[in-house]
Amino acid sequence: MLVSRIEEGTVIDHIPDWRADTVSRVLRLDRLAKMQADVSVVILQNVTSKRLGRKDIIKIDRWHVDESDADILSLVFPGITVNYIDEGKVSKYTPRVPDAIEGRLRCPELNCISNTEREPVTTRFATLKKERMLQCQYCDALFDFDKVPDHVRT
Ligand SMILES: [Zn+2]
Repeated sequence: MLVSRIEEGTVIDHIPDWRADTVSRVLRLDRLAKMQADVSVVILQNVTSKRLGRKDIIKIDRWHVDESDADILSLVFPGITVNYIDEGKVSKYTPRVPDAIEGRLRCPELNCISNTEREPVTTRFATLKKERMLQCQYCDALFDFDKVPDHVRT
């Protein structure tokens, strides 16, 4: 379980145990394969944690996850922590639920204007924080924060 410290990159910590694959999907880590050849990803699953008992950790060497993507992740996993590492120095980023999410999610309503190919519009969802729901700006369709991984645009 020895993993070398990273000098540049991102560490996503306090992921609920066995959910690292969901984090990968929300962050679209598969895209890294196409975008940047020298990025390494280490996924640790079911490691012991004082706070959670068990947890997953994702370390991404030489890649900084966008803060806005970390914010989207916090809809699904409110307890995650994000650490950016620059030249070996760690800075913590605390993700927060944004007021709206643009372009990153698909609307669940098939007839929504944002799902028609002829009129491409950028999807926009307002976050209803108390209800933990997202609402489409175009058709008012609602879905739960927990369903975000199913609606990530690929
Ligand atoms: Zn819609």
